[in-house]
Amino acid sequence: MTCKDADRMIPLFLDDELDNQGLSDFLNHIDSCPDCKEELTIQFLVKVGMQRLEDGNNFNLKNELDGILAKARKRLKIRRYVAFTSFMMELMVLALLVVTVVLTFSLGI
Ligand SMILES: [Zn+2]
Repeated sequence: MTCKDADRMIPLFLDDELDNQGLSDFLNHIDSCPDCKEELTIQFLVKVGMQRLEDGNNFNLKNELDGILAKARKRLKIRRYVAFTSFMMELMVLALLVVTVVLTFSLGI
């Protein structure tokens, strides 16, 4: 992923609109690229910070962004696990189906 790609994905990340692959690539890039991490921080501050200022709340937004990044990583892990699990289930159902068909034919039912 280039910095240009990552930059384009920042608003999507902040709105949680990235798919698993996109989210994974994005997080990997942010981890290894201080420039894009900085850009993400700025856009996050602008997006959330303005709202908070209006609300009059005094949050530590930098910590909040770190929390969001950590949550996104966790979510990605869970989503991947779920995707993997349902993939394995499909495989098992398919295998059962094949066994059933093979048995049916070999028994001549
Ligand atoms: Zn970058």
